[in-house]
This record gives sequence, structure tokens and C-alpha cells, in this order.
Amino acid sequence: MQPMDILFIVIGSILPDIDHHRSMLGRLNIFVGFMSHRGFCHTLLGCAVLSIPFLCIKGAAPYVFLGGISHLFGDALQSIFGSKIFKIKGW
Ligand SMILES: [Zn+2]
Repeated sequence: MQPMDILFIVIGSILPDIDHHRSMLGRLNIFVGFMSHRGFCHTLLGCAVLSIPFLCIKGAAPYVFLGGISHLFGDALQSIFGSKIFKIKGW
């Protein structure tokens, strides 16, 4: 794994939130008003579609897709446990 691959994973991990108006990428998305948060972009197919532009960079798309999957996993954990999974008892 090359350092650039890690960068592509990080990019992929923030891409699904392009459908949220307060996210870093969502603020740049002019279509965010027409999208629902945790809609299509938060599906495996959505992550695959978001990876398509990275096909023009040799070897990047699989890492972007992997980052997207990690985002879905993180959001799923948050949906199940809320923010309590990161909360320290007594704090
Ligand atoms: Zn998300």
C-alpha cells in the first residue's frame, strides 16, 4: 500500500456525506438540496458510483470504494449505538 492509496481511502471515506448540506463536500455540491442525507450515496452502489471518477487515476477507484464502505460501516455503528459508543462513562 502506497501513501497515495491511504489518501484515496480518506477521500472515499468522506465522499458519501456529499449528500449532507453541512459536510465539507456537501457545501460544494450544488445539488445537495435535492438529495436526502444517508440516501443513495450511503449505499454500496452509491459508493461504486462515487468511485467512478477515480477510474481515471490508475489504481485509485478500489481504495476510494473501500473508504466509502468504511464510511457506511461507521454510519451504521452510529445508527445502532448513537454517539454512546465513543462516550466514556462519567463524561
Ligand atoms: Zn454518512
